[in-house]
Amino acid sequence: MELQALRGTSDILPEDIPRWLSLERTIRRLARLYSYDEIRTPLLEEASLFRRSVGETTDIVQKEMFQFEDRSNQLIVLRPEGTASIVRAYLEHHLDKRIGFAKFFYCGAMFRAERPQAGRFRQFHQFGVEAIGSHSPWIDVEAITLCQAMLSACGLPQSRLWLSSMGCKPDQLRASQKLRERLSLHRSSLCSDCQSRFDKNIFRVLDCKKESCRAIVWKEKTSPFILCAECQAHYDQVRQGLHSAGISFDDTGIFARGLDYYTRTVFEFRAKGLGAQDAVAAGGRYNHLVEELGGPSTGAVGFAAGIERLLMAIPKGTSDSSTVSRHGIYVAVTQPTLIAEGFRLSQQLREKGIAANMDYDSKSLKAQLREADKVQAQYVAILGEAELAQQSITVKDLGQGTQRTIPLDQFIQEMSHAANHEQ
Ligand code: ATP
Ligand code: MG
Repeated sequence: MELQALRGTSDILPEDIPRWLSLERTIRRLARLYSYDEIRTPLLEEASLFRRSVGETTDIVQKEMFQFEDRSNQLIVLRPEGTASIVRAYLEHHLDKRIGFAKFFYCGAMFRAERPQAGRFRQFHQFGVEAIGSHSPWIDVEAITLCQAMLSACGLPQSRLWLSSMGCKPDQLRASQKLRERLSLHRSSLCSDCQSRFDKNIFRVLDCKKESCRAIVWKEKTSPFILCAECQAHYDQVRQGLHSAGISFDDTGIFARGLDYYTRTVFEFRAKGLGAQDAVAAGGRYNHLVEELGGPSTGAVGFAAGIERLLMAIPKGTSDSSTVSRHGIYVAVTQPTLIAEGFRLSQQLREKGIAANMDYDSKSLKAQLREADKVQAQYVAILGEAELAQQSITVKDLGQGTQRTIPLDQFIQEMSHAANHEQ
């Protein structure tokens, strides 16, 4: 094949769509249950949005953004993540003044120029939430609870929640100095990326996916974060809230997130059996982002989950609609002159809300029946010369294997009755 989808991008074929739809239905239902309203932001944004929010020294901004100059020399990027765009929209539409506290849900494509590998793509999909306008630890608890509820409702069998607090800016400054001291002995053994992260963004070393770097980090037994009193109290309340919500977590690991905007609570859900790319969802609190993008000082928290990774971790057949059931009517005609009458009947069925399908290529009746079975039709309606002369039509129930002939003027009514019965 000469023409192929770009590396790291993929087609979602009709046969895969039921799994996607089922997942999207599930997450929308849960978002509603927790009162998070859907927001859709553009796929294109100004590059400066992510430079100012995600941060100059992050992998995303340094090497993962698809970036280009448009005809008027404006620097544009394909959005690499959702949080920055949502905060921009929150401020642009004055939602800070109009509603203050807002809870958003989103689902859509994200783009990162990463090296494609299992579970890592250049165009992928995320769903997530952002709760903007509160400092309460309970909203951290709510976001984590919702994240877990979404993952398990989607059919994720087992995941582990990693939890940590990165404290406030002064806490982070102290922790980064401490971490540099502790890791300096091993600096030369870190991968080349981590060597440069060492000075610029040491927390990203903790998040490196390379086995050799993970091994070094894991030798560290205690968290580099010594939290100030307020951050410690906030963290204690989050952990207590999670306990009372019955959510178990691991807060003993050396864990941090490398985006600039995180403060206090950070978390990640990791699934079993996904190898190095095992993070299915990640998030945390970002108390300075709204202010950094020009708004008032505002507490906020959110998470994002990778849909492809999640689908890789969910056993096929878990979701309710992954087994396609027979539905609709296939209108078969015995000769090409009857196509017009078949089309008229198909339209009448569709107007009644019944799915109808037919062949326009004058295939043999046998081939049409095979096709009806292949497209999983519930019924085949066979229209022939003889039937038409008697103003009748033969209806085969492909599920039950039964067949009967009914008057043509009762066909639509009977079929809509049968279709309603099925639902
Ligand atoms: P990772 O540590 O795996 O690189 P990240 O920290 O860059 O992830 P976030 O920006 O927090 O990821 O995104 C949240 C989730 O989105 C991840 O947990 C993952 O499930 C998914 N994700 C991120 N990057 C990709 C990608 N390139 N391809 C597929 N899914 C991705
Ligand atoms: Mg990444």
